[in-house]
Order: sequence, then C-alpha cells, then structure tokens
Amino acid sequence: MAQNESPVVFDGHNDVLERLGRPDGGGSDAFFERGEKGHLDLPRAREGGFGGGIFAVWVPSPKEDSTPERRTSNGLPPALDPAYALRYAMAAIATLLKIEARSHGSLRIVRTVAEIERCMNEGVMPAALHIEGADAIDADLDALHVLHRAGLRSLGLVWGRPNAFAEGVRPSFRGSPDTGPGLTEAGRNLVRACNDLGIMLDVSHLNERGFWDVAELTDAPLVATHSNAYAICPSSRNLMDSQLDAIAASDGMIGLNFGVHFLREDGVEDANTPLEVMVRQIDYLVERVGIERVGFGSDFDGITLSGEIGDVSGLPKLMSALRERGYDDHALRKIAHENWIRVLRETWGG
Ligand SMILES: [Zn+2]
Repeated sequence: MAQNESPVVFDGHNDVLERLGRPDGGGSDAFFERGEKGHLDLPRAREGGFGGGIFAVWVPSPKEDSTPERRTSNGLPPALDPAYALRYAMAAIATLLKIEARSHGSLRIVRTVAEIERCMNEGVMPAALHIEGADAIDADLDALHVLHRAGLRSLGLVWGRPNAFAEGVRPSFRGSPDTGPGLTEAGRNLVRACNDLGIMLDVSHLNERGFWDVAELTDAPLVATHSNAYAICPSSRNLMDSQLDAIAASDGMIGLNFGVHFLREDGVEDANTPLEVMVRQIDYLVERVGIERVGFGSDFDGITLSGEIGDVSGLPKLMSALRERGYDDHALRKIAHENWIRVLRETWGG
C-alpha cells in the first residue's frame, strides 16, 4: 500500500437491498448504475474504496402495522406474520442473487473467509448475506438450515419489534436499552443453532436483556454490526460501557454506525453534521474495546449520513479524517477490514 493510500473497506452493514426492492428502487439493475439516490451502488462503491461487506435483508412492517394503535404494550410495532416475512426475505435474497449473476464477476456472495480474501485480492466485491431480524425463520429452525445452505452467514435476532426469538430495543434518546424481555426458549435454541452452523449473531437492535442472554449463551465472539457508544450518544440503539466491555472480553467487535442520530451527543438527525463526530465515536470505541475490535457498520441506505460523506464515494474523507487524528496505516487497515476478517474467521471457521 502506497503512503496515504486508504486501505479497502469491508463494511459490517448496509441496507441497499431494501432500497433496491422498493417500488421505485430499480431492482438489481440499479446497483450497476451510478445513482443520485441513496448511498450505495457499484460505481460509487468503487470510487469510495468500499471493497465489500455484509448485505442485510430487512423486512419492513406492512403499512397497516405502522400506526400507533397497532403498537405492542411495549411501544413497538407488532411482530410480523412469518409467512409475509419469509416471502419478503426471499425477494430480497433473490435481488442479491441477481446482482451476483449480472455482475460479470464483479460481485460474489461469499460463504467463507477464504472467499472474502480471494475477492479482495482480485478486486471483486465480496457480499456476505445477513438477515436483520429472524422474523422469517420458524421456531423449528427449518428455514435457518435452508437459508444457511443458500448463503446466510450473519443473523440479527431482531429488528425493532418482537419475534418468536427475542425483542428489539425500543428506540429512544436518553432512554435505557433495558426495554423488554430477553430471549425466549426458541431464541436460546436459535443462538445454539447459529453457533453450530457458524452463522454470526448480531446483537445490534437487541434490548439489553437479550444482549446479556446472548452473551451468556454464545460460544462465538460478540458482534454488534452497526451500533455506537451510548456514553457519547445516549440512544437506546447504542451500547452501554458494560456491553462494550463484554464485547471486548469475548474478542468480538463493533461496527461504527454512520447514522448521525446514533453518533451525535444530542441525537439530532441532521445531515449537517461534521465528520469529527464520527472520529470522536471511533476514538471512544477504540479506547474502550481496543483497536482490534472496531470497524465500520455504515448502515448505508438505512440512515441519514453526514453531508461531508454524502454517500459511499465519500468514504476516503472519513479515512483522511482518521489519519489526521493520528491513526497510522496499521490501525487504519484494522478498522477498514482486518478486524472484520478476523472476527468472521473465528465465527465461520476456516
Ligand atoms: Zn439496523
């Protein structure tokens, strides 16, 4: 790597499949065109040094479930109908499969760390398949086994609602992440099954009791793919120091969420936010969990970004800001991709 050249980024979380799947999203073809909408497509990824990452399948609540009257007693959107969630997840996974098929070899769905490394050496974009919330998976875990064979390598137990396995944290600013019950018996079985299959479990979006249940049960490093430090931005979606310490103790990691309302001390969702706020979160996380355990989990296409980055093509600005702050080549490589590769190797095996 030449002096001052930024290392390639492997990112822990993006929502591009959700954006492409919207009625006006353009589907898999739109991934190959340099767009103005959203944050991530192949041309802009190349400009920004985004080498690859974990691609999320996220199932939105149906419109009729998004009203205040339909909220649970805990203030969350109601659980999804599993048949609806599975149907939606199939469509999103199919979008990723079509992107791979139409990419002329420029994107590959990866199932092993050796495949990620081969892709990154060859300038191919590795895409690891993640499902954000196990709503599409039945309590008998039949779908889990099928999805694993189809390429699923990372799973968030919940998004911000309940399901058969656990309950998502209720989003609030200055509120506690302790907003509901922990894992169900089916949730405990799901953790064990993911350990056995080598599927990475993501604790982002879990409430605090769910987090500690996973921490106690899992035999893999604890990973929050797209969350930040509560000590700086007290959003219930972020992690308390005690949770960060547990991640460090398990030799897991945390991917920095680029959403300004998860970064800022005042929690305001305003694109007019300086990069300095991202650097401050990275400084705090590195201080708390160590340089080996921090990476990116941008949440591209799922959040409001700092206007100074704008979209994935602005990633080099963040890398420059970190370099100016004193992170050397060695540290930048760890944050950019080496830490993700280490944790995936430990979790997936091989
Ligand atoms: Zn999320």
